[in-house]
Amino acid sequence: MPELPEVEALAGYLRERAVGRRVERLEVAAISALKTYDPPPSAVAGRTVTGAGRYGKFLDVRFDEGLHLVVHLARAGWLHYREAFPSAAPLRPGKGPIALRLRLDDGSGFDLTEAGTQKKLAAYLVTDPALVPGVGKLGPDALEADLTTFGAQLRSRRGQVKGVLTDQSVLAGIGNAYSDEILHAAKLSPFAITDRLTDDQLAALHAATRAVLGDAVRRSMGQRAAELKGEKRSGLKVHARKGLPCPVCGDLVREVSFADSSLQYCPTCQTGGKPLADRRLSRLVR
Ligand SMILES: [Zn+2]
Repeated sequence: MPELPEVEALAGYLRERAVGRRVERLEVAAISALKTYDPPPSAVAGRTVTGAGRYGKFLDVRFDEGLHLVVHLARAGWLHYREAFPSAAPLRPGKGPIALRLRLDDGSGFDLTEAGTQKKLAAYLVTDPALVPGVGKLGPDALEADLTTFGAQLRSRRGQVKGVLTDQSVLAGIGNAYSDEILHAAKLSPFAITDRLTDDQLAALHAATRAVLGDAVRRSMGQRAAELKGEKRSGLKVHARKGLPCPVCGDLVREVSFADSSLQYCPTCQTGGKPLADRRLSRLVR
Protein backbone atom coordinates (compact mmCIF):
# COMPACT_ATOMS: atom_id res chain seq x y z
CA MET A 1 0.00 0.00 0.00
CA PRO A 2 1.39 3.38 -0.94
CA GLU A 3 2.11 5.39 2.20
CA LEU A 4 3.34 8.91 2.87
CA PRO A 5 6.76 8.58 1.14
CA GLU A 6 5.39 7.02 -2.05
CA VAL A 7 2.51 9.50 -2.33
CA GLU A 8 4.91 12.38 -1.64
CA ALA A 9 7.16 11.13 -4.42
CA LEU A 10 4.23 10.80 -6.84
CA ALA A 11 3.20 14.37 -6.03
CA GLY A 12 6.80 15.48 -6.60
CA TYR A 13 6.88 13.72 -9.93
CA LEU A 14 3.64 15.38 -11.03
CA ARG A 15 4.93 18.79 -9.94
CA GLU A 16 7.94 18.28 -12.21
CA ARG A 17 6.19 16.70 -15.13
CA ALA A 18 2.55 17.81 -15.27
CA VAL A 19 2.34 21.29 -13.77
CA GLY A 20 1.69 23.90 -16.43
CA ARG A 21 0.14 21.43 -18.86
CA ARG A 22 -3.43 21.74 -20.02
CA VAL A 23 -5.84 18.84 -19.59
CA GLU A 24 -7.27 17.25 -22.73
CA ARG A 25 -9.71 15.12 -20.78
CA LEU A 26 -10.29 12.91 -17.77
CA GLU A 27 -11.53 9.45 -18.71
CA VAL A 28 -13.27 7.19 -16.23
CA ALA A 29 -13.07 3.45 -16.87
CA ALA A 30 -14.05 2.25 -13.41
CA ILE A 31 -17.21 4.15 -12.59
CA SER A 32 -17.07 2.97 -8.98
CA ALA A 33 -13.63 4.55 -8.47
CA LEU A 34 -14.91 8.10 -8.97
CA LYS A 35 -16.84 8.88 -5.81
CA THR A 36 -18.18 12.28 -6.86
CA TYR A 37 -20.45 13.30 -9.73
CA ASP A 38 -20.53 17.09 -9.37
CA PRO A 39 -18.46 18.63 -10.86
CA PRO A 40 -18.46 15.98 -13.63
CA PRO A 41 -15.21 14.56 -15.13
CA SER A 42 -15.76 16.77 -18.18
CA ALA A 43 -15.18 19.82 -15.95
CA VAL A 44 -11.43 19.07 -15.91
CA ALA A 45 -11.01 19.38 -19.68
CA GLY A 46 -9.25 22.58 -20.70
CA ARG A 47 -7.96 23.35 -17.23
CA THR A 48 -4.28 23.69 -16.39
CA VAL A 49 -2.52 21.53 -13.80
CA THR A 50 -1.32 24.05 -11.21
CA GLY A 51 0.14 21.79 -8.55
CA ALA A 52 0.27 18.44 -6.80
CA GLY A 53 0.37 17.72 -3.11
CA ARG A 54 -0.52 15.29 -0.41
CA TYR A 55 -2.78 14.96 2.62
CA GLY A 56 -1.59 11.96 4.59
CA LYS A 57 -1.85 9.15 2.04
CA PHE A 58 -4.19 11.11 -0.25
CA LEU A 59 -2.74 12.54 -3.46
CA ASP A 60 -4.07 15.94 -4.57
CA VAL A 61 -3.79 17.00 -8.22
CA ARG A 62 -4.70 20.69 -8.49
CA PHE A 63 -6.19 22.48 -11.47
CA ASP A 64 -6.81 26.16 -12.06
CA GLU A 65 -10.00 27.78 -10.82
CA GLY A 66 -9.86 25.71 -7.66
CA LEU A 67 -10.59 22.20 -8.87
CA HIS A 68 -8.90 19.18 -7.25
CA LEU A 69 -8.62 15.51 -8.14
CA VAL A 70 -7.99 13.84 -4.79
CA VAL A 71 -7.03 10.17 -4.88
CA HIS A 72 -6.66 7.48 -2.26
CA LEU A 73 -4.70 4.64 -3.84
CA ALA A 74 -5.79 2.05 -1.24
CA ARG A 75 -3.91 -1.22 -1.08
CA ALA A 76 -3.22 -2.02 -4.72
CA GLY A 77 -3.61 1.30 -6.47
CA TRP A 78 -0.86 3.22 -8.27
CA LEU A 79 -0.28 6.16 -10.57
CA HIS A 80 1.53 5.40 -13.82
CA TYR A 81 2.83 8.38 -15.70
CA ARG A 82 2.81 7.85 -19.47
CA GLU A 83 4.90 9.87 -21.89
CA ALA A 84 2.39 8.79 -24.53
CA PHE A 85 -0.75 6.67 -24.65
CA PRO A 86 -1.04 3.73 -27.03
CA SER A 87 -4.33 4.99 -28.45
CA ALA A 88 -6.25 8.23 -28.71
CA ALA A 89 -9.51 6.36 -28.27
CA PRO A 90 -11.22 6.99 -24.94
CA LEU A 91 -11.05 4.23 -22.35
CA ARG A 92 -14.02 1.96 -22.27
CA PRO A 93 -15.55 0.98 -18.94
CA GLY A 94 -14.44 -2.53 -18.15
CA LYS A 95 -12.71 -4.86 -15.79
CA GLY A 96 -9.13 -3.89 -16.58
CA PRO A 97 -6.71 -2.43 -14.05
CA ILE A 98 -7.07 1.17 -15.29
CA ALA A 99 -9.58 3.15 -13.24
CA LEU A 100 -8.99 6.69 -14.51
CA ARG A 101 -6.87 8.29 -17.21
CA LEU A 102 -5.87 11.94 -17.39
CA ARG A 103 -4.63 13.10 -20.79
CA LEU A 104 -2.53 16.25 -21.08
CA ASP A 105 -1.99 18.53 -24.06
CA ASP A 106 1.54 17.24 -24.83
CA GLY A 107 0.26 13.68 -25.29
CA SER A 108 1.46 12.56 -21.86
CA GLY A 109 -0.63 11.97 -18.76
CA PHE A 110 -1.28 9.35 -16.17
CA ASP A 111 -3.33 6.25 -15.46
CA LEU A 112 -4.64 5.48 -12.02
CA THR A 113 -4.58 1.70 -11.82
CA GLU A 114 -5.63 -0.91 -9.32
CA ALA A 115 -4.51 -4.51 -9.36
CA GLY A 116 -6.62 -7.40 -8.08
CA THR A 117 -10.33 -7.90 -7.72
CA GLN A 118 -10.85 -5.84 -4.57
CA LYS A 119 -11.53 -2.37 -5.92
CA LYS A 120 -10.87 0.20 -3.21
CA LEU A 121 -9.15 3.00 -5.11
CA ALA A 122 -11.13 6.18 -4.54
CA ALA A 123 -10.99 9.40 -6.55
CA TYR A 124 -12.84 12.60 -5.81
CA LEU A 125 -13.30 15.61 -8.05
CA VAL A 126 -13.90 18.47 -5.65
CA THR A 127 -13.61 22.23 -5.28
CA ASP A 128 -12.26 21.79 -1.73
CA PRO A 129 -10.16 18.78 -0.57
CA ALA A 130 -11.72 19.05 2.90
CA LEU A 131 -14.94 17.79 1.30
CA VAL A 132 -13.30 14.39 0.77
CA PRO A 133 -14.33 11.92 3.47
CA GLY A 134 -11.15 10.97 5.28
CA VAL A 135 -9.21 14.13 4.44
CA GLY A 136 -11.19 16.28 6.86
CA LYS A 137 -10.55 13.79 9.68
CA LEU A 138 -6.79 13.46 9.20
CA GLY A 139 -4.54 14.16 12.15
CA PRO A 140 -1.31 16.18 11.84
CA ASP A 141 1.05 15.04 9.08
CA ALA A 142 3.45 12.38 10.38
CA LEU A 143 6.45 14.02 8.75
CA GLU A 144 5.63 17.53 9.92
CA ALA A 145 4.48 17.01 13.53
CA ASP A 146 6.97 18.38 16.08
CA LEU A 147 7.71 16.39 19.23
CA THR A 148 5.07 18.19 21.32
CA THR A 149 2.31 17.59 18.77
CA PHE A 150 3.49 14.04 18.08
CA GLY A 151 3.54 13.15 21.80
CA ALA A 152 0.15 14.72 22.49
CA GLN A 153 -1.43 12.90 19.55
CA LEU A 154 -0.01 9.51 20.49
CA ARG A 155 -0.97 9.85 24.14
CA SER A 156 -4.47 11.00 23.22
CA ARG A 157 -5.29 7.48 22.08
CA ARG A 158 -4.70 4.57 24.45
CA GLY A 159 -3.80 1.42 22.56
CA GLN A 160 -1.03 -0.67 21.05
CA VAL A 161 1.46 1.69 19.49
CA LYS A 162 1.36 -0.10 16.11
CA GLY A 163 -2.39 0.52 15.83
CA VAL A 164 -2.23 4.10 17.08
CA LEU A 165 0.63 5.04 14.73
CA THR A 166 -1.38 3.85 11.73
CA ASP A 167 -4.62 5.57 12.83
CA GLN A 168 -4.92 8.37 10.27
CA SER A 169 -6.83 10.60 12.70
CA VAL A 170 -3.88 10.47 15.14
CA LEU A 171 -1.10 11.03 12.57
CA ALA A 172 -1.60 11.18 8.81
CA GLY A 173 0.49 9.15 6.39
CA ILE A 174 1.80 6.06 8.20
CA GLY A 175 0.58 2.61 7.14
CA ASN A 176 1.47 -1.00 7.82
CA ALA A 177 4.92 -1.05 6.23
CA TYR A 178 6.43 2.15 7.63
CA SER A 179 4.96 1.59 11.11
CA ASP A 180 6.96 -1.68 11.27
CA GLU A 181 10.06 0.22 10.15
CA ILE A 182 9.52 3.12 12.57
CA LEU A 183 8.98 0.81 15.56
CA HIS A 184 12.11 -1.14 14.65
CA ALA A 185 14.16 2.05 14.40
CA ALA A 186 12.75 3.25 17.75
CA LYS A 187 13.42 -0.19 19.32
CA LEU A 188 9.83 -0.45 20.52
CA SER A 189 7.48 -3.42 20.65
CA PRO A 190 4.52 -3.01 18.31
CA PHE A 191 2.33 -3.99 21.26
CA ALA A 192 3.68 -1.32 23.64
CA ILE A 193 0.78 0.68 25.08
CA THR A 194 0.85 4.34 24.08
CA ASP A 195 0.00 5.95 27.42
CA ARG A 196 2.74 3.95 29.15
CA LEU A 197 5.50 5.19 26.85
CA THR A 198 8.15 7.21 28.69
CA ASP A 199 9.20 10.64 27.46
CA ASP A 200 12.42 9.09 26.18
CA GLN A 201 10.53 6.40 24.27
CA LEU A 202 8.22 9.02 22.75
CA ALA A 203 11.20 11.12 21.71
CA ALA A 204 12.83 8.04 20.14
CA LEU A 205 9.59 7.23 18.33
CA HIS A 206 9.32 10.78 17.02
CA ALA A 207 12.92 10.79 15.84
CA ALA A 208 12.45 7.37 14.20
CA THR A 209 9.29 8.55 12.42
CA ARG A 210 11.12 11.54 10.98
CA ALA A 211 14.17 9.52 10.01
CA VAL A 212 12.34 6.57 8.43
CA LEU A 213 9.81 8.64 6.49
CA GLY A 214 12.35 11.29 5.57
CA ASP A 215 14.81 8.70 4.24
CA ALA A 216 12.06 6.98 2.29
CA VAL A 217 10.94 10.27 0.72
CA ARG A 218 14.52 11.10 -0.26
CA ARG A 219 15.04 7.65 -1.77
CA SER A 220 11.78 7.87 -3.69
CA MET A 221 12.21 11.41 -5.01
CA GLY A 222 14.06 11.55 -8.27
CA GLN A 223 13.00 8.02 -9.11
CA ARG A 224 10.75 7.49 -12.05
CA ALA A 225 7.18 7.02 -10.88
CA ALA A 226 7.18 3.48 -12.27
CA GLU A 227 10.14 2.49 -10.09
CA LEU A 228 8.92 3.85 -6.78
CA LYS A 229 7.38 0.65 -5.49
CA GLY A 230 10.55 -1.39 -5.87
CA GLU A 231 12.54 1.26 -4.12
CA LYS A 232 10.26 1.00 -1.09
CA ARG A 233 11.00 -2.71 -0.77
CA SER A 234 14.74 -2.29 -0.97
CA GLY A 235 14.79 0.25 1.85
CA LEU A 236 12.92 -1.87 4.39
CA LYS A 237 14.67 -3.50 7.38
CA VAL A 238 11.91 -5.61 8.95
CA HIS A 239 8.64 -5.15 7.06
CA ALA A 240 7.88 -8.09 4.74
CA ARG A 241 11.22 -9.67 5.77
CA LYS A 242 10.01 -12.53 7.96
CA GLY A 243 12.78 -15.11 8.50
CA LEU A 244 15.52 -12.83 7.12
CA PRO A 245 18.28 -11.45 9.35
CA CYS A 246 17.74 -8.05 10.96
CA PRO A 247 20.31 -5.72 9.33
CA VAL A 248 21.01 -4.13 12.72
CA CYS A 249 21.61 -7.16 14.98
CA GLY A 250 21.40 -10.28 12.79
CA ASP A 251 18.48 -11.86 14.71
CA LEU A 252 15.75 -13.32 12.50
CA VAL A 253 12.78 -11.07 11.75
CA ARG A 254 9.54 -12.51 13.13
CA GLU A 255 5.93 -12.06 12.21
CA VAL A 256 2.58 -11.72 13.96
CA SER A 257 -0.42 -12.50 11.73
CA PHE A 258 -3.90 -11.07 11.95
CA ALA A 259 -7.03 -11.86 9.96
CA ASP A 260 -6.08 -9.75 6.93
CA SER A 261 -2.68 -8.29 7.77
CA SER A 262 0.58 -9.06 9.53
CA LEU A 263 3.40 -7.22 11.20
CA GLN A 264 7.10 -7.95 11.30
CA TYR A 265 9.60 -7.08 14.02
CA CYS A 266 13.00 -8.01 15.40
CA PRO A 267 12.86 -9.63 18.87
CA THR A 268 16.42 -8.61 19.82
CA CYS A 269 15.98 -4.98 18.78
CA GLN A 270 12.39 -4.52 19.94
CA THR A 271 11.09 -6.95 22.54
CA GLY A 272 14.06 -7.85 24.74
CA GLY A 273 14.66 -11.00 22.69
CA LYS A 274 11.21 -12.45 23.46
CA PRO A 275 8.98 -13.47 20.54
CA LEU A 276 5.51 -11.93 20.64
CA ALA A 277 2.49 -14.21 20.86
CA ASP A 278 0.94 -14.73 17.46
CA ARG A 279 -2.65 -13.69 18.15
CA ARG A 280 -4.10 -15.70 15.33
CA LEU A 281 -2.37 -18.92 16.38
CA SER A 282 -3.15 -18.52 20.07
CA ARG A 283 -6.81 -17.97 19.21
CA LEU A 284 -6.85 -21.23 17.28
CA VAL A 285 -5.29 -23.08 20.22
CA ARG A 286 -7.84 -21.67 22.63
ZN1 LIG B 1 17.52 -6.54 15.26
